[in-house]
Amino acid sequence: MIVFDNVAKRYPGGYTALAGVSFEIRHGELVVLSGHSGAGKSTLLKLIPAIERPTAGTVLINGQDVSRLPRRAVPYLRRNLGLMLQESKLLTDRSVFENVMLPLVITGHPPGDAAKRVAAALERVGLGGRGREMPLGLSGGEQQRVAIARAIVNRPSILIADEPTAHLDPAYADEIAALFKSFNSAGVTVLVSTHDANLFAANKPRRLVLAKGLLTEGA
Ligand code: ADP
Ligand code: ADP
Repeated sequence: MIVFDNVAKRYPGGYTALAGVSFEIRHGELVVLSGHSGAGKSTLLKLIPAIERPTAGTVLINGQDVSRLPRRAVPYLRRNLGLMLQESKLLTDRSVFENVMLPLVITGHPPGDAAKRVAAALERVGLGGRGREMPLGLSGGEQQRVAIARAIVNRPSILIADEPTAHLDPAYADEIAALFKSFNSAGVTVLVSTHDANLFAANKPRRLVLAKGLLTEGA
């Protein structure tokens, strides 16, 4: 369901972030992507929702070649994806509820059902009844849980998260990892990057390891 076939990504300016990366992630897997800073993790994740396009090679998502997807088809691709990337910050001038509602507003979801889904998503991440609060009034761990609720409110089949525990205390990080695990147990395919080797260790996840743009483990 996620297939990378000999994927390379060279940024304008000539920097090669990924070189000939190939792997396959099947439906329902939980996969941890690790590697040092600058190894290409964010780049790899951004190729999946077509935020970046590969310079060479093929990226297939649910059988669809997203490396050659026309721009107008990208919103449809993203409907099936839950995204928690570096650039997906919470809007600090909107309530928790409005933040989680955002993806449903963008896809033109009927408002009544959207409100129910938002409530369910907040409940799911342990923030039931906290919708009226503002993001900056929450702890770092709670803010990340809002971001998770926003990522899953569309009920995506694939959840992708880039360093979701980067700035969190270990106890909060474990809570976030447990949430990802629970979505995975409910059938969601999860791909999460981290440089914390201990995260998910108890679940013995499949690991993909990147080093300087090359996949050195897990293919
Ligand atoms: P990681 O997420 O593992 O830290 P990245 O994918 O962010 O790695 O970056 C891989 C390499 O690509 C780094 O050397 C980075 O500087 C470079 N890079 C990332 N984004 C861009 C960009 N938009 N333009 C040019 N170079 C970039
Ligand atoms: P189902 O329809 O059986 O609940 P889905 O395929 O729609 O299953 O979603 C898979 C799982 O993802 C759900 O069982 C639930 O654990 C979680 N999930 C995704 N989106 C939501 C949401 N908006 N509210 C609550 N749980 C959600």
